[in-house]
Amino acid sequence: MSLLEISGLTKRYRSVQAVEDVGLTVGEGEVVGLVGESGSGKSTVLRCVLKLVRPDSGSISFAGKDVLRMRGAAARAYRQDVQMVFQDPLGSLNPRMTVEQLVGEGLVVHRRLPDARARRDRVVELLGMVGLRPADLGRFPSSFSGGQLQRIAIARALAVGPRLLVCDEVVSALDVSVQAQVLNLLLDMRDELGLSILFVSHDLAVVNYLCTRVAVLRSGRIVEEGTREQVFGHPRHEYSRELLAAVPDPERVLSARSH
Ligand code: ADP
Ligand code: MG
Repeated sequence: MSLLEISGLTKRYRSVQAVEDVGLTVGEGEVVGLVGESGSGKSTVLRCVLKLVRPDSGSISFAGKDVLRMRGAAARAYRQDVQMVFQDPLGSLNPRMTVEQLVGEGLVVHRRLPDARARRDRVVELLGMVGLRPADLGRFPSSFSGGQLQRIAIARALAVGPRLLVCDEVVSALDVSVQAQVLNLLLDMRDELGLSILFVSHDLAVVNYLCTRVAVLRSGRIVEEGTREQVFGHPRHEYSRELLAAVPDPERVLSARSH
């Protein structure tokens, strides 16, 4: 049994078939990439996993439990087990909250660590994990660079101890030089915390760098799925070959680290 199991996932928006019969699994400690062009349905898959959107049909299970039927306490536990990081950190982090409030928010919402001192200690620990300093506690989002903001967003996601991290284009807005740093941080967190990661990106170089298994989405359907080596080295589907051919330098950030 995989940690996350999606099968037959289908979602239609009026005239648009956003996702059709998508199946995907993410194992414990596994980093799975979902690649595809803009509009191929990647974010829709994630929104269904996050219970932000209800699919028309299909099933999603997490640790053997039916996600789509979760209510009450089970849904609240799931909202801690599965955390997300998005593309635009400035847009997803409240500009009027300090780093301490932003990173500690999940702990407050889920009534973990009600003691303010204990919560601050935990936030400092989380900042250390993502390479930020205690002196950053009182700063606001506008005073950080894009890469630092994604570190804050990752610390915020990790605060409640998730088992699965869902990432939607999290390095797409960053300079290439900063991308590898954030990707390495994600891999470190996978190693240290045993996290599983479902990583969505239109950027094949980034997915090639990060993921052990890859699924290729085209117009809402998965056309190819396999290990990183299979999909990037020996793509079976014509569409995957076209996607790869369109990437100027698929090995771009690869030099910084090998698996
Ligand atoms: P991706 O993340 O791969 O760019 P999306 O999942 O965002 O793709 O979108 C897949 C398709 O569904 C697109 O054609 C998009 O326009 C459409 N779509 C997504 N969300 C909505 C919505 N809320 N209402 C109508 N159409 C939507
Ligand atoms: Mg998207």
